[in-house]
Amino acid sequence: MVRLRDRLARSGSPLGARLLTMLSRDQLTEDDWDEIEETLLLADLGTGPAEELLESLRTRVRVLGVREPSAVRDLLRDELLKVVDPTLDRSLALDRPVVDGETKPAVLLVVGVNGTGKTTTVGKLARVLVAEDRSVVLGAADTFRAAAADQLQTWGSRVGVETVRSDRDGADPAAVAFDAVRTGAANDTDVVVVDTAGRLQNKAGLMDELGKISRVITREAPLSEVLLVLDATTGQNGMQQAKVFSEVAGVTGIVLTKLDGTAKGGIVVAVQRELGVPVKLVGLGEGPDDLAPFDAEDFVDGILG
Ligand code: GDP
Repeated sequence: MVRLRDRLARSGSPLGARLLTMLSRDQLTEDDWDEIEETLLLADLGTGPAEELLESLRTRVRVLGVREPSAVRDLLRDELLKVVDPTLDRSLALDRPVVDGETKPAVLLVVGVNGTGKTTTVGKLARVLVAEDRSVVLGAADTFRAAAADQLQTWGSRVGVETVRSDRDGADPAAVAFDAVRTGAANDTDVVVVDTAGRLQNKAGLMDELGKISRVITREAPLSEVLLVLDATTGQNGMQQAKVFSEVAGVTGIVLTKLDGTAKGGIVVAVQRELGVPVKLVGLGEGPDDLAPFDAEDFVDGILG
């Protein structure tokens, strides 16, 4: 698995370099502070966290009379870390639940708008789980796009795990999800990961579909995680969609994809604040190993470069 810090540092995030150059000026004028705020907003940190960070940083820079670039960097690192919140529990719930004396698979439901990287994330996640010696079954409950099940199955065979799917286009996604979980339970599987369609035509339709999938799955085993996949490059625009999903699906964690090649890493902070759930995993490329657990310190060091 790739290290978040290395990958972010390699993508040359301009956020850290810009901020440090500005903060190292001899006398910081109001204009300088405005520019610093603008940089944080451009990185999608969100207005609230950006103002909070800035106020605290300004006070500390003034009180301590800091000029030395390395000292300024330390202060900035400290403040960034605070807003990213290293205290959140970002572990995935992978322990197998026991229901009525029977051990069930941990079920991970993966939701989000099409194109955000759901199927790719499910594939990468399967690889990580297999590498940890867990048995895995994938469920292709995105029955809307014919190619989606093929894409998932390709990931499945690459990783060496079974993919439960329907051969019929437009099959009931809840039925496929149920089959996947039942197959997992019958085979004493550790983890079942269910990929879903991300049609956001209207909130009621989405609520119906995801609601039915969750209800049907929980007849067989409880949902251990509902992971919302968000594309970091859509920035604040993705937030609206994210809110809808979190309202309808009871999201327990966020997977932020495509963090490679975007300077908008601040979205991590914005999305956690808005949705009240932690970013647990990040996607750092299209390859099978490009998924990393989110680590606050690594992340901050990565964006500071
Ligand atoms: P889905 O419709 O949500 O299932 O999205 P897909 O998994 O099909 O991904 C859409 C596109 O995004 C594909 O071209 C993926 O290779 C690409 N993708 C997914 N995750 C990442 C990532 O972390 N970084 C980059 N650069 N591309 C990604």
